[in-house]
Amino acid sequence: MPFSQLIGHDRPKAILKASILHDRVAHAYLFHGEEGIGKKLAAILFAQTVNCDTPYGSQGPDACGTCRACTQIDARTHPDFLVIEPDREMANPQIKIEQVRQLEEQIVYRPLVSPWKIYLLDDADRLTQGAANALLKTLEEPAAHSLFLLVSSRPSALPTTVRSRCQSIRFVPPAKTQVEAALITQRDLPPDDAHFLSMLAQGRIGLALRTDLAEARKQQDEFSSLTNPATLRSISTILTVAESLHKSDRVLEALEWLARWGRDLLLVRMGADPEHLLNRDRLPDLQRAASTVQPQLLVQVLEEIQTVERHAGRNLNLQLALEQILLHLRDAVAPPALAGPAR
Ligand SMILES: [Zn+2]
Repeated sequence: MPFSQLIGHDRPKAILKASILHDRVAHAYLFHGEEGIGKKLAAILFAQTVNCDTPYGSQGPDACGTCRACTQIDARTHPDFLVIEPDREMANPQIKIEQVRQLEEQIVYRPLVSPWKIYLLDDADRLTQGAANALLKTLEEPAAHSLFLLVSSRPSALPTTVRSRCQSIRFVPPAKTQVEAALITQRDLPPDDAHFLSMLAQGRIGLALRTDLAEARKQQDEFSSLTNPATLRSISTILTVAESLHKSDRVLEALEWLARWGRDLLLVRMGADPEHLLNRDRLPDLQRAASTVQPQLLVQVLEEIQTVERHAGRNLNLQLALEQILLHLRDAVAPPALAGPAR
């Protein structure tokens, strides 16, 4: 895939292309921004662009995607391209000093076949202290043809000394319309489904492209039934639902969907454009609920959900937490006539 076809990221693309065009490619870059928005893909495409064998045309530097350099970088078999990343199978994934040593051994040699010897450090914030120190030495005295591409969604976790050696390139999530367009063309989805997945992924395009649509729709169905007045009307149903979700270890999943629905409901209540709704295709249900919702109470429920999500790891009784949240949601959305006797 050519670099120019990367979805979104117009500014990083422009900066990086200009650096090639004016022969000012830095020795180290830090690609940072939210998780899952295409930083690593951008780094790979940039690596291809600087090492591509095909001369570029009037559109400026780009990766052809088909020459030997481009295909080898894509397949990670290029002799001048090394990806260093933490072992994600580990409980605490880290980039270890041995991995940086391996890089140091190679860097003294000139590139074998291409203009640049490229080291892509994915999740660079996971460098151990020792590995970061070793890397810093290399960054301080870069070999003439070496190019470091550090990718991180937590740049503040990187030592300042390492960060200061890199040209910082900030990535922001692509616009929703760009994610939708990519889903429509790359996954051949109808616009409604593309909208749904793009909202669900919140600009994390990688996630949007690989989310199982049928599974996500199933969850949407299942958890929107939780917000149904018929469910909330009955306290015994609320208790049964909370118990069964807890038994199947799905309380957090349920809370996530409740929060999405709650945010949509607030937006509808405020008269927002349905384009901003995840559950756009359930607008009539949302409008019905919005006509009776008490926004202040709903905001409190959303805050409660956030608190539970933050503390979920700490021996919190999730079943009880879900019960409380559903009961409060009932107060927020169910009109008094439905919610039973006045309290
Ligand atoms: Zn190429």
